[in-house]
Amino acid sequence: MNFTGKTIVITGGSRGIGEAIAESFVEAGAQVHALSRSESSRAAELQEKANTAGGVYTWHAADITDRPVLEEVLDSILKAEDGIDVLINNAGITRDGLLMRMKDEDWDAVLHTNLSSVYTACKKVIRPMLKARSGTIINISSVVGIMGNAGQANYSASKAGLLGFTKSLAREVASRGIRVNAVAPGYIETSMTEKLNDAARTALAEQIPLGRTGKPAEVASAVLFLASDAAAYITGQTLVVDGGLAM
Ligand code: NAP
Repeated sequence: MNFTGKTIVITGGSRGIGEAIAESFVEAGAQVHALSRSESSRAAELQEKANTAGGVYTWHAADITDRPVLEEVLDSILKAEDGIDVLINNAGITRDGLLMRMKDEDWDAVLHTNLSSVYTACKKVIRPMLKARSGTIINISSVVGIMGNAGQANYSASKAGLLGFTKSLAREVASRGIRVNAVAPGYIETSMTEKLNDAARTALAEQIPLGRTGKPAEVASAVLFLASDAAAYITGQTLVVDGGLAM
């Protein structure tokens, strides 16, 4: 796929799924802006790949739970690039625990990071997209937002909230040619899931019809598809990338 000349903004691009998405857009020639608190350990490599593909890779230090900071960074990108073509709300955290033992700060942190930041980012970019009558937003949800998961009431609430948010915003902006979709990954091998021991990993893989966990690049390819013109007639949808787990 070719994204030459397109400006892509991704939250949480420093590792895992977000880094894989950033890398795929870099390889497709885009101008990629990655937001996170820490820089990717592969930033230099990504910059080099961007140079080769004729695009740009820029990292912006930002804590997306800090609303003024997130707005300021997005404003600076909007000014520098004259618009944003694709916004990918990928950054997310877990703070697992059974509800009866869940700390209020764990509830708040997960909801602020995974859901409220998406409200802030979308609100900032939607006006310029409406003006341009083009643009697409992709929110990274989770199968847990569809199925639920014991010990993840905060996380699954945030991810289910994202699905409702996605459909509502999709309806609000569709008449202006803007598409809003969600991707719901299943079990993907990243630092978020590496805490699991081998036994838990094997037990989980047994529940997945395709019989294995997923790779960040396999989520990235779904995101690139939804961002591309090949998905021009798709909005308000959730593309589940989970090896069949949630079907
Ligand atoms: P990860 O490896 O832990 O990466 C999370 C990313 O989010 C990092 O780049 C991190 O960057 C960023 N982030 C977290 N808090 C942030 C904050 N306050 N401000 C800015 N950036 C922040 O997780 P992952 O597995 O790649 O997950 C990516 C997304 O996919 C998440 O939304 C997650 O819920 C979703 N997902 C993952 C799986 C899975 O199995 N891995 C399954 C379903 C859904 P810094 O720490 O540098 O800020």
